[in-house]
Order: sequence, then structure tokens, then C-alpha cells
Amino acid sequence: MSNAPSSFSNLPTVSVAEARRAETVGREVVVHGWVRTRRDSKAGFSFLEINDGSCFGNVQVIADRGLANYESELKRLGPGASVTVAGAVEASPGKGQATEVHATAVVVHGMADAETYPLQKKGHSFEFLRTIAHLRPRTNTFGAVARVRNCVCNAIHRFFQERGFLYVHTPLITASDCEGAGAMFQVKETVKAANGATEEFFGRPAFLTVSGQLEAETFACSLGKTYTFGPTFRAEHSNTPRHLAEFWMIEPEMAFCDLWGDMELAEGLLKRIFRDVLEQCPEDMQFFNQRIDPTVIETLEHILQSEFLRVSYTEAVAILETSGQAFEFPTAWGCDLQAEHERYLTEKHFRRPVILYDYPRSIKPFYMRVNDDGRTVRAMDVLVPKVGEIIGGSQREERLDVLESRMKEQGLNPESYWWYLDLRRYGTVPHAGFGLGLERILLFITGMQNIRDVIPFPRAPGNAEF
Ligand code: ATP
Ligand code: MN
Repeated sequence: MSNAPSSFSNLPTVSVAEARRAETVGREVVVHGWVRTRRDSKAGFSFLEINDGSCFGNVQVIADRGLANYESELKRLGPGASVTVAGAVEASPGKGQATEVHATAVVVHGMADAETYPLQKKGHSFEFLRTIAHLRPRTNTFGAVARVRNCVCNAIHRFFQERGFLYVHTPLITASDCEGAGAMFQVKETVKAANGATEEFFGRPAFLTVSGQLEAETFACSLGKTYTFGPTFRAEHSNTPRHLAEFWMIEPEMAFCDLWGDMELAEGLLKRIFRDVLEQCPEDMQFFNQRIDPTVIETLEHILQSEFLRVSYTEAVAILETSGQAFEFPTAWGCDLQAEHERYLTEKHFRRPVILYDYPRSIKPFYMRVNDDGRTVRAMDVLVPKVGEIIGGSQREERLDVLESRMKEQGLNPESYWWYLDLRRYGTVPHAGFGLGLERILLFITGMQNIRDVIPFPRAPGNAEF
């Protein structure tokens, strides 16, 4: 117990989560944490609600006036103060808690001034909390988001690792633009050359990556099944509640796999994530369901029981055209689907997740495999209620000549993709993969409305304080 004051060194430290469990009753323990509230009883003792981030709920500590520092320190404790408590865990007569800790000693590490502590009162707006991103993890909402985010990341790694996927790290600084379209941050560092001239650091324009896919394909085309999970950057100039300048993306890539295998993987991954969150974060999910969006649990449970439908883009457009629904953007074969169309399909028409596939070639990037009809490519998007597209993927074009002509068709220079084309030149294989935005799936799971509230330190236009 190296982190407890030496006078407690014979007692085991437990987390607040453990101290709250009925099984812990009868044990003498040490608990650390931050005070959420203090209430004084006329009978000469105080109730302290302590939280340490290990779970949603607080543990109630009963501090008696017999404690040496009761008048001098404990009666001044307020929200935000940090303490270590030694005491006996006992069954609690109070409602909503199985246990309480009867303190034999309370060490105060740091007071929090009631006049200036920004989280003194409850019920701050999420907008305000973004301006104190260094303290918002102490609130119920952001603690819950952090734990669910951790659970999702763990589920993702375990899902892939259990299936023999190799975790690969693709570069954050890159000279290629995966989608063949802007929105990249340029890396502007320069160096002095021997002749005194100023040269670009990398000898060419370099950018922060918008996707690790192209590099990930090289590993999949050597080692089979791979996934990336890392930060991604996009110079999104519009302020939307669904876009960040820095976000985390998961990109599996599988050799010897076609579009159908890709769909199966996507469905399996989403179900694994949802199942783990429901099983491992029940208190946090109850909170989101009660305070943020009353449908989140039911939606996840429904998805776990549903088979995801597979519907071609062409069928989907026909459904939209005959729906009688007044859309802001009318649909016709060849147009990109808007969120309103995606939501109609998954929420109203099919009432479950839908995987749309075989999109028009003109609206999809060069690397997607061209179908025999010549008009469509082997793309697939997974659509879910409330969010629309949550995953975008494809079978990749493995034929060298077709890939080269697709690049030219989209105004790209095949020479600058020489290494990507080599994968088709030497031992080409059918392969497929997809991209899943971590913060988008967190919005879906938690019901939070703004993507800036599901990442610890959001990066958006005008926003990099912390
Ligand atoms: P959108 O149409 O919403 O801008 P996109 O078509 O640009 O998305 P992709 O290029 O397919 O998205 O990127 C893969 C995934 O990354 C998306 O499905 C989404 O989950 C996520 N994503 C894309 N852009 C952002 C962003 N700016 N902030 C957070 N997540 C993003
Ligand atoms: Mn985009």
C-alpha cells in the first residue's frame, strides 16, 4: 500500500467500486478519492460522498467529531477536496447504497476553495464544461463517458486479438491522401540544406494522416489480418456536432477476404462492442439512459438481437424514391445518400441496422473494387438508427490495370502511389476492410449529442486550449 499514508500501511486499499460492494462489509480498508458533497448531521458527525472514478456511484463516509482533525479540517471539506479515508465498511441503512465507511482516520491531501472551485454547483451545461476540460472528468457525465470509452477500446482490441488480427501502427505523418480529397493538415517544418537553402523537412509536402488504410493494406497484403487503432486528423472547417479535427479510428484490413466477409466482420465487431458495454458498464449506461437519452439501452439490446440486413444501394434508392417521404435532398440513382435517407432506411423502413452495398463508382474513392456492371463498386456502409452511417468499408481493387485507370479517372497521379500499386503488381490478393470512428460509436452508445463531449480533449476550429 505504498500510496496510503504510513499510519494506514497495514490496511488494504480498495477502490470506491469495491467499497460499495456488499461483500466488502466487515473489512477495515483504505479508500482514496475526491469529495463530491459533505453533509453535517446535528448528532455530531458528517457524511462525505467520495468518488475515485472507479465506478459511477460514490461511497458514503461517516466522519465522527471524535476524529482529531474533525473541526480543523473535515468540517471545511467541500466538493473537489481530496482525501484518504481509513475505516470499517459496514452495511448501510441508507437507500441506494449497500455499504458505508465508518472512518477511523481521514487524511486531507488538498482542499478546494468553495469560492473559486468551478464544479461547486451541479448541473453545468456541457458548453461550460468544455471550457474546463481539465476538471470535467470529475463530473458524473464525463466519468461515465471515460469509462464507456475505455470499455469500447478494450472490446475492440479483444475482438480483433481473439480472431488473430495483428495490431499495426500506421504513420501519423504521411505524404499520401487516402481519399484523394483535401481536409488535410500540413506539416510545415523545414530544415536548412548544406547550401543554406530552406527545404521541407521531409523533402516533400507532408500532412497529418486522414486514414491509415493505404499503409494498413501493405501489412494485410503481407501478414493477412490486421487492424489499426489510432488518431486521425481532418481539417474540418465546419463546426458540426459530429466532426472533430482529431479523432480516433479503427481500420481492420483482411487479405483473402471479399465484401461479404467484410460485412460479417463489421457486424461482429459492433455486436461485441455493444454487448461488452451493456455487461461491463451497467451503472454508466443506466445514467445515460436516465439523464441523456431514454432509448440508448433499448436500442443496443435491440441491435444485439437483430440480424443486420444486406441491401444494395440500388434497392435502397428505389425504396427511398417510392417512400412518399418528403426529404430535404431528393434521391436519384447516382447521388450520395444523406443522413436523412440513411436514417429513414434504418429507423422507419427496416427498423434495424442495414448494410448498404454496391454504390455508384462515381461517388466512391479509387481503391474500391469495380463490379462487373462497370457502374458500381464493392462498397459497404453500415447504417444504424439515430446516427446513420457508422462504418464505411469496401473490398479493395486488386487488379493493377483497373486501379490505375480509376486513379486517373479521379485526377490522381498513379506514380505517387507506386508502392500501393506494387501490392497489385506482386502477389495481388482480394482484400477488404473498413473504418469505424471511435467517437461516432461513442455518440451512438451514450446518446451524447456533441462529439466534443465523448473525447477527453476535443480539437476543433479555434479549440486547442488543453
Ligand atoms: P462524414 O461524411 O461524416 O464526414 P466521412 O465520409 O468523411 O464521414 P470516412 O472518410 O468514411 O468518413 O471516415 C471513416 C469514419 O471516420 C467515419 O465513418 C466516421 O465514423 C469517422 N469520421 C470521419 N470524419 C470524422 C471527423 N471529422 N470527426 C470524427 N469522426 C470522423
Ligand atoms: Mn467527412
